[in-house]
Amino acid sequence: MTTYRALQTVKTDHGFTTDMIELPALEAGDGELVVAVEYSSVNYKDGLSAAGNPGVTRQFPHVPGIDAVGRVLQSNDDGFAVAERVLVTGYDLGMNTDGGLAEQLKIPASWALKLPADLSALNAMALGTAGLTAYLCLDRLERAGLQKGASIIVSGAGGGVGSVAVALASSRGYRVTASSGKAEQGEWLTALGAAEVIDRSELSEENKRPMLKPRWDAGIDCVGGFTLANMVKQITYGGHVSACGLAQSADLPLTVLPFILNGVGLLGVDSVELPLSAKQAAWQALSQIDDQLGLEKLFKVISLEQSVDALSEVLTGSVLGRTVVDVN
Ligand code: NDP
Repeated sequence: MTTYRALQTVKTDHGFTTDMIELPALEAGDGELVVAVEYSSVNYKDGLSAAGNPGVTRQFPHVPGIDAVGRVLQSNDDGFAVAERVLVTGYDLGMNTDGGLAEQLKIPASWALKLPADLSALNAMALGTAGLTAYLCLDRLERAGLQKGASIIVSGAGGGVGSVAVALASSRGYRVTASSGKAEQGEWLTALGAAEVIDRSELSEENKRPMLKPRWDAGIDCVGGFTLANMVKQITYGGHVSACGLAQSADLPLTVLPFILNGVGLLGVDSVELPLSAKQAAWQALSQIDDQLGLEKLFKVISLEQSVDALSEVLTGSVLGRTVVDVN
């Protein structure tokens, strides 16, 4: 193949536009891999990148896509053989390094994981960075002492991270409350495992009271802002909240009172720069449980061409669950 198809975001005088183009085939440099991408996915961060958000991407033209799975086409690293299946999420992929929404990508081998034997390429992208992040959020809560049967509130439950978090937490025996702006999707969230669905306005509106009546033992927050603040205020004594997102806001309008009077703990979760060994362990764990999550209910598959529109849709907060991109 002398060229490959890719989505490319270009900076113009009128803003940023993303289109399908053909690019010259890639060559692996020292310590690098060229991967023939099979599947990628669409994440909130990919939408930000394609919209020219400088906190995500500064160098254009740029190929978005923070997730990819595929087969090694060229390897300049002893750890990877040609045709081996690899998985890459995070680090600089899809930020200022061309990403997975393309038939080929080039990465340092140090970003790549061998796809776990028990995980299909499709399920790896049904989970993607969102699934990895949901896993890490729950793992942090469990390491902090969460007891089986405890109640967990998940915000942004209709989105990628949130929907996997609902499925994961309920599969592990927790009583999950899903907070969502997609009230009409109550049945879908219940099918994923939510015991209760609340409208996100219960959490997302400003409430100036520094403490609120405790409602849940733990929380997984994907949206930040008033939602995270209200969640922290409603956690039972000694409970924890894992915070991973900012879909509502990067602000955290909160006093220290829930921390110093209720002993609540706030746990930050990052799946992007996580050391590769920890990513490997998380993906290995996911590969053992992915068939218990009802993943088929929470993702749809689209083509590379269709992902042009999906990149802008994801920023509207209206997309349900996960979007996998079948690149070929
Ligand atoms: P999605 O767009 O799939 O989901 C975000 C969800 O948040 C939406 O579906 C919606 O859910 C809710 N939401 C959107 N806008 C608002 C708003 N204004 N107020 C309240 N809720 C809102 O994104 P992802 O699941 O991919 O990512 C979620 C967040 O996590 C993002 O901020 C992303 O950047 C971050 N993230 C962080 C990672 C890390 O390593 N820390 C890794 C991956 C993602 P609903 O309609 O159900 O309320």
